[in-house]
Amino acid sequence: MSTVKVEKMEKLNIKRDYYQMVINGERVDGTLKETSPTYNPATGELLAQVAKASKDDVDKAVKAARYAFEYGKWRKYPVGKRARVLNNIATIMRSQFNELVELEVLNSGKSLSAAQGQVLQAIEDFEFYAGAIVGHRGEVNNMPYGFFNYTQKEPVGVCGQIIPWNYPLMMAAWKIAPAIAAGCSVVLKPASLTPLTAIVLTEICHEAGVPEGVVNVVPGPGSSVGDAIVEHQDIDKVAFTGSTPIGKDIMEKASHTLKRITLELGGKSPNIVFDDADIDAAVYGSIFGIFYNTGQSCEARSRLYVHENIYNEFMEKFIKKTKQLRLGNPLDQATQVGAIISRNQLEVIDGYIKSAIKDGATIVTGGHEVKVEGYEDGFWYAPTIITDVNHNMKIVREEIFGPVVVVMKFNDEKEVIKLANDTDYGLGSAVWTKDQGRATRIAHKMRAGIVMVNCPFSAFPGTPFGGYKKSGFGRELSIETLNLYTETKSVLSYYGGKPLNPLGV
Ligand code: NAP
Ligand code: MG
Repeated sequence: MSTVKVEKMEKLNIKRDYYQMVINGERVDGTLKETSPTYNPATGELLAQVAKASKDDVDKAVKAARYAFEYGKWRKYPVGKRARVLNNIATIMRSQFNELVELEVLNSGKSLSAAQGQVLQAIEDFEFYAGAIVGHRGEVNNMPYGFFNYTQKEPVGVCGQIIPWNYPLMMAAWKIAPAIAAGCSVVLKPASLTPLTAIVLTEICHEAGVPEGVVNVVPGPGSSVGDAIVEHQDIDKVAFTGSTPIGKDIMEKASHTLKRITLELGGKSPNIVFDDADIDAAVYGSIFGIFYNTGQSCEARSRLYVHENIYNEFMEKFIKKTKQLRLGNPLDQATQVGAIISRNQLEVIDGYIKSAIKDGATIVTGGHEVKVEGYEDGFWYAPTIITDVNHNMKIVREEIFGPVVVVMKFNDEKEVIKLANDTDYGLGSAVWTKDQGRATRIAHKMRAGIVMVNCPFSAFPGTPFGGYKKSGFGRELSIETLNLYTETKSVLSYYGGKPLNPLGV
């Protein structure tokens, strides 16, 4: 196992059986010379081995990133040149679209259609930030009495980035694209379960012309590699996407070095269907809202509130369509619901179902593991609908991160707003109604970072994505994100002719 300059590789071989980390523009094995296996969750089969980083590798990556930041050319490039490289990344990704999609499906078990959408969005993220960075600048302030002030945006420095397993490539793009657009350098840790596409993306960055040291990837366990990033003395900012408990831990530890942090955490998002909604659109959107990505979405709309006047009609359609969802070969374009990421996660989901049953809830459909023909050793769970629940139940209060939705009936706008906001989380929220006034009232009253009005989708490049309350803080995908990867420097000068003598000396 050797060290190879990434830029000098002939053609990127996306699918292979061993993936190294990338530090300072080189593929390396890491100091431990150890590897970790990574699996295909749909089949349970071994997919590849991945070099396992240690604290020492994090340190090497941070040194490379610091050197690139202080002495390298990346942040000194004219902004148009950085933008061109970001567009190159997108172009290479487009040229290898099918290969990236396939690798994402194999490593995550998600359906082909879900992976296609996410890889496309990852590409568009780079294109968005290539454009956005060009217009991202400081301002000039008019000042009286001979003073002149301008501000400039300077990259925050070396950024540690830690991402989850549910959108492996898209999360890597959400992190890397704005950071490098802003001129930062990056040390990224992918989730242990799904490291492959983030590693490949790092290789693509080099192929596209990102100089060595600007983007480094260190796969390995959160407890050691993630922790080493959070505690590192020479990292300026940590951007984390993952669960709320780990987010809290990171916030505390990052305080030791006063790192800037952004936290994109969990959710338990409400989905409200009024009696004047287009019922079919609401059914399609509610099915997508919870079962897309097998429910393993931070913005999954996992609490469904349906107006009593249409409850029966809505539920009949919702249950029927849910039962018809196609689970199966994730690489088949017709598959609608993919696998669960791991045996462990499947058991977490099943534990929630057991708690719901114990609390007196009714499992309308699903509520069990399924054996999918040809994929018997993979991790599959039936799309699940639960009724007869209330806000004291664990199944209603906690994030499950699986294909499970709880449904409640309501009859009044004020009541449903109260229920929707009765959660520790505040990431997504959705409303289905033809009454524009009501849609606007709901949008204004939701204590959540995202409101979807008659819309199944939560985000596109350019739309801010992030949470209120215990869903974290900071925004991704947007212009605002660039502010979070920059410091604002204020330059104040005096141009008056008369010398200033403030102490009257
Ligand atoms: P997680 O367990 O919190 O892990 C996220 C990342 O943190 C992984 O790379 C993990 O490494 C690492 N990590 C674990 N312990 C750490 C520690 N002590 N210090 C530093 N890093 C550590 O989350 P997950 O299970 O991968 O993903 C599911 C969660 O992500 C859900 O709560 C979901 O809502 C949230 N999520 C939020 C958003 C959003 O934008 N708001 C988007 C997607 C997902 P290992 O892989 O080695 O454990
Ligand atoms: Mg986890």
